[in-house]
Amino acid sequence: MKCPNCSREASPDAVECAACGLVFDKWKKRKEFEDELSREEKARALAALESGAPPPVDSLTGRWIAAGIAVVWLVGFAAYFHRRYARASGGAPAVEFVERRDPETGEIRRLPIRRPASGAPGKR
Ligand SMILES: [Zn+2]
Repeated sequence: MKCPNCSREASPDAVECAACGLVFDKWKKRKEFEDELSREEKARALAALESGAPPPVDSLTGRWIAAGIAVVWLVGFAAYFHRRYARASGGAPAVEFVERRDPETGEIRRLPIRRPASGAPGKR
C-alpha cells in the first residue's frame, strides 16, 4: 500500500509509515469521520435547497426586527394623531386646505396651501 501522506510504498501490515511516521489506523479513522461529516453537510444543504425555504432566522433576531417595525408604526401613528389634535385644538397647522371646484369634472377638491415659514418675507 502507499502512504496517503508521503505516497511512499509501505508494507501492507505496517502500523505506521516508515518514511514520515503517519499512523495508518489514526489516519483512516480521521478520514472516515471527515467523510461522514461532509456527507451530512451535503445532505443538509441539499434538503434546504429542495424545500426552497430560506435559511432559518434566529428567532430572537426575528422578534427584534418585528418589534422594531412595530415601534416605527406606533411612532408614525402617534405623530399623525398628534398633528390632527393639535390642529383641532387651535394649534397652527403646517398645511391648510382650500376647496376648489375642478372646472372639468365639477368635483370639489381639497388643495393644500403651504404657509410661508415663520420669519420668511411674504405678504399677509
Ligand atoms: Zn508516509
